[in-house]
Amino acid sequence: MSSISSLTPTICSLMKIDPPLNSTAESLKIVQDYAANILGEKVVEKILIYAPDAIGLSLYNDFKDDFITVESIAPLKVLLKAELPTYTPVCFGSMFTGASPEVHGIKKYEKPVLKCDTLFDALSRANKKVAIVAVTNSSIDLIFKKRAIDYYSLEYDPQVNEMTQLLIEEKDYDFILVYNQEYDDIMHASTPRDPKALDAFRNHLSAFNKISNTFNQRLQKKNRAIVFAPDHGTHLDANTGKGAHGTDLKEDIEVNHFWGIYNKNNN
Ligand SMILES: [Zn+2]
Repeated sequence: MSSISSLTPTICSLMKIDPPLNSTAESLKIVQDYAANILGEKVVEKILIYAPDAIGLSLYNDFKDDFITVESIAPLKVLLKAELPTYTPVCFGSMFTGASPEVHGIKKYEKPVLKCDTLFDALSRANKKVAIVAVTNSSIDLIFKKRAIDYYSLEYDPQVNEMTQLLIEEKDYDFILVYNQEYDDIMHASTPRDPKALDAFRNHLSAFNKISNTFNQRLQKKNRAIVFAPDHGTHLDANTGKGAHGTDLKEDIEVNHFWGIYNKNNN
């Protein structure tokens, strides 16, 4: 099984740009083949990445029907393993550097600004216009700071998603990374299958659908990609009776990423 760190080299291959210096993960051949089928030799010009916290494979397995719209937008489903320990900054550190935690340096729950080369550095060297839209003080909001890109730090998911819609409609970014966290917040305070946590999970799916539709409408004249890319899964901690992650349990490690590739000529 490939690692979530394959996201960075895969994006670089689709956009035909040089990957970040420490990227050692393999690009996902299944995604490259899928893109080649749709785009031929043409590069992906615009990318939207929606990164919801803690939406693991077990949610997919238990609630497949809820993913129908996600899969209609991003039909290529790729099973991946998270990085260890399965904490958000460890995992997103790897996803957006292509490097292992030993190399990028985040090996526990901490949120330092990464010093190593990242996908965002690689994109800005290639003159791509990049935006990160995230909840203030979340991992994604903090660990990729100090790059030549634009940061939008907002109060919570609804503000993040509203801002993303606005940026897609009114700006011309080549790459937008959007982060949402409500499911993770609620399942830590309750359980991974608490009705309130499941409502939050469904909020993420509908946010993805809404943002993706705007992206597809606005950018229909561009070759583009949409990725649904969570960081890790969750499990029920027998000691606390609450939702948790950070371990090497299957439920924490296994995640699906979903890829949609669109050709400007046949939308
Ligand atoms: Zn968490």
